[in-house]
Amino acid sequence: MNEFELIDRHFRREARDASVRVGVGDDAAVLAPSAGAELVLAVDMMVEGRHFLPGADPEALGHKVLAVNLSDLAAMGARPRWALLALALPDDDDAWLAAFSRGLHALAGEHGVELVGGDTTRGPRNLCVTIAGEVPEGQAIRRGGANAGDDLWVSGTLGDAMLGLAALEGRVTLDAQSLADCVARLARPAPRVALGSALRGVASAMLDVSDGLTGDLGHLCAASRVGADIDLAAIPRCGALDRMLRGEARAAALAALVAGGDDYELLFAAPVANRERVAAAGRAGGVAVTRIGRIVVGSGIAVRDECGVPIDPLPRAFDHFATA
Ligand code: ADP
Ligand code: MG
Repeated sequence: MNEFELIDRHFRREARDASVRVGVGDDAAVLAPSAGAELVLAVDMMVEGRHFLPGADPEALGHKVLAVNLSDLAAMGARPRWALLALALPDDDDAWLAAFSRGLHALAGEHGVELVGGDTTRGPRNLCVTIAGEVPEGQAIRRGGANAGDDLWVSGTLGDAMLGLAALEGRVTLDAQSLADCVARLARPAPRVALGSALRGVASAMLDVSDGLTGDLGHLCAASRVGADIDLAAIPRCGALDRMLRGEARAAALAALVAGGDDYELLFAAPVANRERVAAAGRAGGVAVTRIGRIVVGSGIAVRDECGVPIDPLPRAFDHFATA
């Protein structure tokens, strides 16, 4: 199979969306954005050995590499529309490609996203999606809009993905159901696209939690020039993590909850007056939204334990370039 047969077979699909004037097969894609919309762009790369292990399920990889990009657009309140896929592959394993593209096309279909181009080359396995979407003019939800006094909210539950990873690596033991749930959170994150859009005009600042709660909250606080005060007890978590937090494995549970990456939940601030509208956005988005604390004057982040005492030191968020 040559490069063009490979692209034709696995990545070229009939565009269902009239906005795609030229898709896969020409030198570049030609797209017709909606009137009055601003373009929102993001790119996220997954490297074998860094973000996933050799031998990882290709269908889950196809899902995840698109999901993490959809999550970035969700975090802006944008509607994702078009994607580009850059692939470096060590070989042309047809079964691998079929499964990978199945995972990618399935999630794209769910969100009405069209794959409109890409690049394919031989090399160490590297998966990279560029996503493009739209937001009504001036309505993107940025990191910098939070104000002291705002509530701080998060969608879904935190820590599951890190717990799943710890279980896969044999560092914790989970019951069969929790193991399946947490590993699914790690392998097939659900981007909160509908919630993100529903929060336009409601949230004052937002981002997605990819590197851990306190680390990502730090970005929101820095951009907004505020601090934050969080109640540990309020942070939404799965049953397994909750049990760990009350037992001997408390330190590991705490790390997963406040510093665990890969959850792809939305973290956002909203004025107190918007509580009802946030709840409605959660219903529209089909995901729980939980108030975990508030935005405060200053620059520090405090996570208070069950007695109201700030946890010190806080477990640190993941950073690819952190020096130990
Ligand atoms: P060029 O040499 O002009 O850059 P390529 O040979 O790289 O073109 O790609 C041919 C066509 O296939 C282009 O439309 C490109 O966008 C598309 N394409 C290449 N790789 C992928 C991929 N992995 N997924 C989707 N489209 C792809
Ligand atoms: Mg090319």
